[in-house]
Amino acid sequence: MDAILVLNAGSSSLKFQVFGISGTGDLQRLVKGQIDGVGTSPRLRATGPDEKPLLDRNYLPDDVSDLKAATRVAGDWLRETTDVNLVAVGHRVVHGGPDYARPVRVDKAVLKRLERYVPLAPLHQPNNLAPIRTLLERRPELPQVACFDTAFHRGQSAVADHYAIPERFYAQGVRRYGFHGLSYEYVAERLRTVAPDLAGGRVIVAHLGSGASMCALSDGRSIESTLGFTALDGLPMGTRCGQIDPGVVLYLIAEKRMTVETVQDLLYRQSGLKGLSGISNDVRELQENTDPRARFAIDYFVYRVGLYAGTLAAALGGLDAFVFTAGIGENSALVRARIAEKLAWLGATLDPAANMARKLLISSKESRLALLVVPTDEELMIALHTLELVKGDKKHNTAGQR
Ligand code: AMP
Repeated sequence: MDAILVLNAGSSSLKFQVFGISGTGDLQRLVKGQIDGVGTSPRLRATGPDEKPLLDRNYLPDDVSDLKAATRVAGDWLRETTDVNLVAVGHRVVHGGPDYARPVRVDKAVLKRLERYVPLAPLHQPNNLAPIRTLLERRPELPQVACFDTAFHRGQSAVADHYAIPERFYAQGVRRYGFHGLSYEYVAERLRTVAPDLAGGRVIVAHLGSGASMCALSDGRSIESTLGFTALDGLPMGTRCGQIDPGVVLYLIAEKRMTVETVQDLLYRQSGLKGLSGISNDVRELQENTDPRARFAIDYFVYRVGLYAGTLAAALGGLDAFVFTAGIGENSALVRARIAEKLAWLGATLDPAANMARKLLISSKESRLALLVVPTDEELMIALHTLELVKGDKKHNTAGQR
C-alpha cells in the first residue's frame, strides 16, 4: 500500500504518523508514534490504527542523541514493521515567513530559504528542519513537503498583520504571522462537514493546548488571530506568558540586568500556567489541586480567553459560533463551562450534559451562539496537503477520516 509519513519534530521529541492511501485516494491512519526524551532518556512508543499499542521501547541516551538519530531510529523501525511503500513525507514547520502561504515541496534551495526563518522561531524552526535535512541526505529521491503553521493566516488584511512600528520592519519580516494554522485549517474544513450552516459564518476557534491561541474565521478564512510575530503573544499557555507589555521586557533587561537568554527562558519556559501557579503547566493537575494559586492560574486563563473572544468578535463584526479544540479544549469540560459563562454576553448558554459528554454541539437549544467541540488533527491536515502536492490534482476532504 502507498503511504505518507508525517513528521512533527520538537526540541526533544519526534512525533510521527503513517497514513495509507486507499484505492479511492482516501487516507487511513496506520501508525501513530513518538520518540520522547531525545538525548536524555529516549523512549519510542507507537500505536496501530485502533490505538492498539505496537511498541514501547527504551534506548540509551547515546543511541538517540539528537533528532537526526531519532529520524533514523523511527525510520528503521517503520521499515521493519510496516509493509508500506512510502511515497512522500510531510513535515510540520512552524514558520513559513512572509513567503509561504501554502505548503511547498522541499529541495535544498527551499531548505536554505526556510533556514532564514530560524531567527523568527529559534526554539522551533531548527528542530522542524532537522529531519528534512536528514532525509534529503538519506533519501534524496523521496518527495518531502513542508506544511507551515503560519500559512493559513497569510491572507489577513494589512491592519491585522502590521505592528505600529516603522514600515521598514514589516518589509524585513516583523509581522503578525499567527500560528496553529494547520489546526485552524483542519477545523475550518471539518466544520464544512459537521456544521455546514455555521462553517460559512463568523466563527472563533479556540486552540487550547499546551500552546494556546484563538483565531477568527470568516467564511472559513482566518482574518485575525491572537498569536503574532512569535508563539508568545495572546493567551497565556502552559509555560509561555501570552500578551505582555513590551515595556516589561525592556525593564527586565535595562533595570534588572537580565540577559536576553534569561528573559527568553522566563517568557517561554517559566511563565503561563506554570509561572502563575508555581505548581504545573498541566490543566489536569491544576484542576485537581486545591491550592489557591492553581485556581488563580485557571481563572486567569479563562478570563483571557473571554477577553480575546471580545476582540475577535469585534474583528468579525459579530459571532455565530465558538469552537473548542486541542488538549484543554477537547478534554476539560470544566474549562469549557467556565469559558461559556464568559461568553454569555454574546448570547451563549451551555448544555451541561452535552458538555460533560463532549458532544459536537454543547450549547443549549436557546443559545444564540453555537458552542462546539471539534477535535483537531494537524497530522491529517499535513498528510492531505502532502498527498495533494505529490499527486497534483486530487481534491480531498476530511469527511469521516478521523
Ligand atoms: P495539546 O498541546 O493540545 O496536546 O494539549 C496538552 C494539554 O491539554 C495538557 O498540558 C493539559 O493541560 C491539557 N489536557 C489534556 N487532557 C486533559 C484533561 N483530560 N483535562 C484537562 N486538561 C487536559
